[in-house]
Amino acid sequence: MKVPFLDLNAHHAPLKDEVMSEIEAIVDSSAFVMGQRVKAFEEAFAAYCGLDHCVGVANGTDALYLALKAYDIGPGDEVVTAANTFVATAEAIAHTGATPTLVDVDPQTFNIDPSQIEDAISERTKAIVPVHLYGQIAPMDEIQAIAERHDLVVIEDAAQAHGATRNGQRAGSFGHAASFSFYPGKNLGAFGDAGAVVTDNGAIAQQVRRLHDHGGLAKYEHDVVGCNSRLDGIQAGVLSLKLKRLDEANRRRRRNAERYQEILSGIPGLVTPEVPEPMAHVFHLYVVRVENGQREALQRHLHDHGVATGIHYPAPVHLTNAFHSLGYRKGAFPVAEQYAGEILSLPMYPELADEQIDYVAQTIRSFAKAPEPERARP
Ligand SMILES: *Cc1c(COP(=O)(O)O)cnc(C)c1O
Repeated sequence: MKVPFLDLNAHHAPLKDEVMSEIEAIVDSSAFVMGQRVKAFEEAFAAYCGLDHCVGVANGTDALYLALKAYDIGPGDEVVTAANTFVATAEAIAHTGATPTLVDVDPQTFNIDPSQIEDAISERTKAIVPVHLYGQIAPMDEIQAIAERHDLVVIEDAAQAHGATRNGQRAGSFGHAASFSFYPGKNLGAFGDAGAVVTDNGAIAQQVRRLHDHGGLAKYEHDVVGCNSRLDGIQAGVLSLKLKRLDEANRRRRRNAERYQEILSGIPGLVTPEVPEPMAHVFHLYVVRVENGQREALQRHLHDHGVATGIHYPAPVHLTNAFHSLGYRKGAFPVAEQYAGEILSLPMYPELADEQIDYVAQTIRSFAKAPEPERARP
């Protein structure tokens, strides 16, 4: 059996006809950049998040950059975020001219450890960027309390958490603003690059609108030095159609995670992610930890049996060449560093079949039993 890491064809097959006729309509209208479809998607996605404003932009990295810029964050400022995020989080902060200040990870959830945030705050700190890593909401209660105490802006990096909720509240609606990515492989993905900033703050939304289209709200009006980070009509049209299916797709991801957990529990040396309250985790990625230095061997074993896996991410931000200059040494964030050597992302997408999950789990079991058959479980 072959189990791909992600199967976008399977995901798109049932809506392909609808999408193709939508794309044809957009081609006929020539509304390629911004326009009615973008406006319609912005309204639908803001409503989905339970917020007043959404500004469609070119990608998720720009979304975070523009949200930070709208809050006037720049050179001399510090922005606190997690050490183990996708590098784009730190890039967006760095591109404003601010300095990312990193914090280690909670060993249970993979998300930023709230008990270590205050140690990272200085008089230069302006914002906290919690990342809802792998699709699980970061500990927003604690983060918001810290932000209030220190008068900081909170901007959620929700690129992996479309539709995730805590106590019924959706990702993107906890902070002052949030950034989303609609990269094709994300839980809500476009047919190319796309992103959005969401917020309840009308002035901030307007500032993002200025910044993302050459600094003004009307053509040839340039109030600030902006950039070009606009959303395409075609991407917005695709996203509006896919948004209607997002909750169902997330439910299926969650079901798949529950099935993985059932079959994978009790394997020595393998730690499965906790599946918390309904939809607090939308499993953009299903990440296990492989202890005792066995990760590479297990990954190879899975590969040899037709199962594709990934590592998200091989190095924490401070150990990438790009962010070496932040000055953190190896050992600065022990949990993030340890996990970078243990994490393994298993195939996860809504259309993953039960037989595929069972096969992946069986293949992992056969590996775990291999060296010591007497440890085999019933
Ligand atoms: C994907 C991702 C981004 C960047 O989004 P792009 O659309 O690829 O620019 C930022 N942060 C996190 C956590 C992501 O997963």
